[in-house]
Amino acid sequence: MTERLYYTDAALRAFDATVVACDEVDGRAHVVLDRTTFYPTSGGQPFDVGRLGAADVIEVVDREDGEVVHVTSVPIAVGERVRGEIDWPRRLDHMQQHTGQHILSAAFDRLFGVQTVSFHMGAAESTIDLAREVTADETVAAEAESNLVVWEDRPVTVRFVAAEEAARLPLRKPPARAGTLRLVEVPDFDLSACGGTHVARTGVVGLIAVSGQERFKGGSRITFVCGGRALQSHRALRDVVADATRAISVTPPELGAAIRRLQQETKDRDRERRGLLEALAGYRAIEARAAAERVGDHRVVFVVEPGWDAAALKTLASRVTAEPGYIAVVAASGSPLPIVVARSADESIDAAAIVRDLTTRFAGRGGGRPDLAQAGVQATAVEIFDTIRRALS
Ligand SMILES: [Zn+2]
Repeated sequence: MTERLYYTDAALRAFDATVVACDEVDGRAHVVLDRTTFYPTSGGQPFDVGRLGAADVIEVVDREDGEVVHVTSVPIAVGERVRGEIDWPRRLDHMQQHTGQHILSAAFDRLFGVQTVSFHMGAAESTIDLAREVTADETVAAEAESNLVVWEDRPVTVRFVAAEEAARLPLRKPPARAGTLRLVEVPDFDLSACGGTHVARTGVVGLIAVSGQERFKGGSRITFVCGGRALQSHRALRDVVADATRAISVTPPELGAAIRRLQQETKDRDRERRGLLEALAGYRAIEARAAAERVGDHRVVFVVEPGWDAAALKTLASRVTAEPGYIAVVAASGSPLPIVVARSADESIDAAAIVRDLTTRFAGRGGGRPDLAQAGVQATAVEIFDTIRRALS
């Protein structure tokens, strides 16, 4: 079975080993070594990448038979001595997140007796799922406690014990496997059975920052970033906030109130604009009736009001047809073209039928009542007006 060098020395970046097996699986080379410091995906921590001789290590898998499988860019001959080197920034990042997870989970456990059910390390953020729902205040307290332990720079130690001995120790979680257990300890804070890689001192974690919290399967899912990712996250937030505060000339603490004020102003202006359009519609209706065309037995008003919305068009059509003896056909601008057809109470045409005919003739959607109907159609105002002129004459 592959000797896992990272079990006893997580800081080891390069090593020499002998190729024990090299198989082609699904068109890719699967290399097994007598020893390795490449970490295979397990326990929520992703695999290492790096170099093995002249080959790139693309993925590392913990095979069921206990071997560590290196998926490489090219095959390597069995018996060959190779030098392996892991991508250290990636590994250090994983160790910061993973050790941070131990500390954060232990803080929830010690402060509030809340167990961590599962852990996932994502490419940008990590999550722990807690057995019960926690409050925002509890999360703030656990985050604060975690960072105190980070800044005390406590050692993180690893030792191997038999399962019987482990059963007598105050492990945070009962171990999932039998036989010899690998215990990872932060003195007076956390004792866990774990096969992952961890930093040698808590100070290397740098910072543990919770970035989100949500309800999940009857408990809480806590999203967090540690170390370098906490700095990246800070930079990203800083840039977003700087951009937003520059755009509306406020300081970061004023941002929320400023956005709410802008939203209110927009709402107020919309209401004001609607009132003005209503008033304008009244005047436009008078002008439009004066310019009505005679089509067959009808007096028809054709109007284009670029930029008006459907509600304003309806208001105008209603105002025109408030007087007896008129048919109103009003259009705005755009594609689809908003149009409204209306008639005075004493007119007998069916506005809904006219609109139906338009949406069939030109692609579009619409509907309404016999006295007022509206649609959006793929046509120009001229095409619409001509069609209705022909239909009414
Ligand atoms: Zn661990």
